[in-house]
Amino acid sequence: MSQHSGNIFMVVAPSGAGKSSLVNALLQEEPTMMLSISCTTRTPRPGEEHNKHYRFVSIEEFEALRDAGALLEWAEVHGNFYGTPRDRIDEALQAGRDVLLEIDWQGARQVRQALPSAIGIFILPPSIEALEARLRNRGQDEPHVISRRLLAAGSEMSHVSECEYVIINQEFSDALQELRHIVRAARLHYRSQAVRHAELFSQLGISKTSN
Ligand code: 5GP
Repeated sequence: MSQHSGNIFMVVAPSGAGKSSLVNALLQEEPTMMLSISCTTRTPRPGEEHNKHYRFVSIEEFEALRDAGALLEWAEVHGNFYGTPRDRIDEALQAGRDVLLEIDWQGARQVRQALPSAIGIFILPPSIEALEARLRNRGQDEPHVISRRLLAAGSEMSHVSECEYVIINQEFSDALQELRHIVRAARLHYRSQAVRHAELFSQLGISKTSN
């Protein structure tokens, strides 16, 4: 891939850790950031819209996208397929825009292989009780789905060490502040700055080294 200054952030968390609320609040503050809309074979929850929350597809459609290489990563999570379409991400990064992915640990591993500079941020709940309460209070899933997600939460959290950053979502405003700091610090990486301020670097006689 040619030089670009956009960063790719992967936000990983067990269901109920408050990941989507944090991501949505960040996007309000950072309108140039692009949230990737995943494809999924899961049925929509009440209030979820096609092409806004997810691109809801059939298993056949999903397999066709996957087999055509149109997905940057894909995984089976809680019995459904999820995947990140490649096209809009390449476009955004090339244009210097930051990209946010809300994906599971399996997807994060694949993205890291394709794009080693991807930044992983893991969101943890403040306790197992809080996680359980958030899943139940959401009221959007059947009880057997909630039980399955609770079981899966333990296995998702066992991959926390694969992310560079960990945010414990006890107080929403504190967690949001931490997320904001991570994004802003990443924009100051040498790699980003050298592209964004290429003219200044050249004027200052700083030669380009790639890393
Ligand atoms: P939910 O069904 O609750 O929206 O999401 C369930 C899980 O699937 C979450 O852990 C979420 O991060 C993950 N997920 C959502 N989209 C993708 C995707 O495109 N790829 C992967 N690997 N996981 C995803």
